[in-house]
Amino acid sequence: MLADYAVQVEQSRGRRYPEPPHAYRNDFQRDRDRVIHSRAFRRLEAKTQVFTRRYSDHFRNRLTHTIEVAQIARTVAAQLGLNVDLVEALALVHDVGHPPFGHAGEKALDAAMRKHGLFFDHNLHALRIVEDFELRYAAFRGLNLTFEVREGIIKHSRDYNAEQFPELEEYLLDQRPPLEAQLIDVADEIAYSTADLDDGFESHLLAIDDIREGVPVFARFYLEVEGLYPDAIEKLEFNETLKRVLNRWVDDLITNTKAQIQAAGIHSLDAVRLSPLRLVGLGKNAEQERKATKQFLYDRLYYSPALDAEKEDAERVIHELFDFWMQKPDTLPASHREKSQQEPLARVICDYIAGMTDPYIYEQYGRFVDR
Ligand code: MG
Repeated sequence: MLADYAVQVEQSRGRRYPEPPHAYRNDFQRDRDRVIHSRAFRRLEAKTQVFTRRYSDHFRNRLTHTIEVAQIARTVAAQLGLNVDLVEALALVHDVGHPPFGHAGEKALDAAMRKHGLFFDHNLHALRIVEDFELRYAAFRGLNLTFEVREGIIKHSRDYNAEQFPELEEYLLDQRPPLEAQLIDVADEIAYSTADLDDGFESHLLAIDDIREGVPVFARFYLEVEGLYPDAIEKLEFNETLKRVLNRWVDDLITNTKAQIQAAGIHSLDAVRLSPLRLVGLGKNAEQERKATKQFLYDRLYYSPALDAEKEDAERVIHELFDFWMQKPDTLPASHREKSQQEPLARVICDYIAGMTDPYIYEQYGRFVDR
């Protein structure tokens, strides 16, 4: 049973190219399946989240991160009476626009584009992937996803201004996205904040005492766990603690969102869309805990000098390959050379690089630049 404020699949604004209904999968289930069967989704497996594979083969990559976001988002969506099929499709697609080398790759690609008066944005790139780059159907380019999934790709994590992005006009930029899309952003934050503590601890870049000092919510649950399991080894005490932090935030997200929906008197999707603020979110205390955790991760992990070498690598590889293709566009694959007849060359090169996995961009770098 869906809540009255959920997105009903029967009321979807539909696909760009109408298709006959499927016998036993609804449109959002089909969209989820289309995402899973896309190339861009498979490539997430070989894209860095925070740590490259040089560190360990069991740290998160963008695919396993994506699956964790989907797991958290599904759980919360079911408790809130939201459309779980739509939530799952949105969670699985939310990171397909990310370039290789994680955040460093995104920064480098954006910097390379700015030299040509353009920019890189991973949400806009994700929309181009599902609308244009994925070729699976004879009748049209792209995956022909429903409006609600495309809208969620654009609007889950930030608001785009209609004046600055006239090409996004159809996505109702002056309105809030449905709760299903709003949920993805918070599930993403919860997923990586806990997962990065885990991988950071495993990598020995974060010590347990540093985490206890810098992350108050962790310190609080650690005391409880030490009381319960005084003889457990440190890693298991860590796991028990982290599990409690994750549960605390997910519980809080469910309770607080329910309360915000009720306080705002929301009883329809239209009311969600017209609400002045986003309604899915953590309560004040949990939000403070999450922000403190994020700050700690920035200070101690993401900006850790231990990761500098990999970031410099990412920057060098992306900039040099970008410049190489700007100067020698005839070495691009034929389909990309063709595209540069209709679009700026820098945009075509950016799209090409953004689609690559970490190993593939290294391979291209070795082939064209570092011979
Ligand atoms: Mg993400």
